Amino acid sequence: MRYVFTVAAVLLLMSGMARAADPVQVFACEPEWAALAEEIGGEAVTVFAATHARQDPHYIRARPSLIAALRRADLLVCSGGGLETGWLPVLLQKAGNRAISPGTDGYLLAASVIELRDVPERVDRSQGDVHPEGNPHLHLDPHNIDQVAGELAARLQAVDSTRAGLYQDRLEDFRRRWQVAVADWETRGARLQGLPVIVHHQAWHYLIGWLGLREVAALEPRPGIPPTGAHLEGLLQTVRSQPVAVILRTPYAPPDAADWLAERTGLPVRVLPYTVGGAEGVDDLFTLFEHTLQQLESVRVTETITN
Ligand SMILES: [Zn+2]
Repeated sequence: MRYVFTVAAVLLLMSGMARAADPVQVFACEPEWAALAEEIGGEAVTVFAATHARQDPHYIRARPSLIAALRRADLLVCSGGGLETGWLPVLLQKAGNRAISPGTDGYLLAASVIELRDVPERVDRSQGDVHPEGNPHLHLDPHNIDQVAGELAARLQAVDSTRAGLYQDRLEDFRRRWQVAVADWETRGARLQGLPVIVHHQAWHYLIGWLGLREVAALEPRPGIPPTGAHLEGLLQTVRSQPVAVILRTPYAPPDAADWLAERTGLPVRVLPYTVGGAEGVDDLFTLFEHTLQQLESVRVTETITN
């Protein structure tokens, strides 16, 4: 009898150990958070990225595969700040997974850790602005990545306490490597200070703020409102009346407006990767920023556009 109990106890213990060793299922809304989860979680996590670099994260179709991924998730990590308002709440409702419902350890929005830029004093959705809560494209300041990494490690420790030490070690290792890389980017970025740029969408405000670039104008009259002929004609005058070095857009933005302005002004267009997977060789957060820096460094800076 005692033997039976012992065997049962050992089997129970082993099944518990097996469960503890299962990877944590992470649902990342955007590739940058998927990459960060892999940095902090390593082999202890299985990461599902809901979107890729050629999709506009504001507008994602609610596919059944996304609901299935949410159902099995132990931890969700998304930008928040309204970026996923058009698709995530409905998917979460359909998935009905309480482990990742708002307010739980399994529900992490980067915007809850970061102070958002461009928070409007008055919200007016009637004009179609897709940034009513502020600017949600917060991952393009590497200091924000560092902050979110800390919170992500804490959440992994909360949902998988058996491997708390591993997450702490990986966080510290990531931060050491990240700080070295950021210092290099900032040294090189000093040359870019004041570089006047025109953006397609306000996807670049954190990058612009971090590097001290100067945004002259946006091709979209308001965030999320496609460029109009009248607005573009106005930009033509802007470019003729003041220095501009380059037009920046994401891989997912339609090229028409940037190309239209470039053809008439001779301005170069740079398609920056925006997120992991956004250009060849950009397969993690380090190469994302490295590639972005290289693209900006390749802009010819003349005496008229430096300070
Ligand atoms: Zn946006």
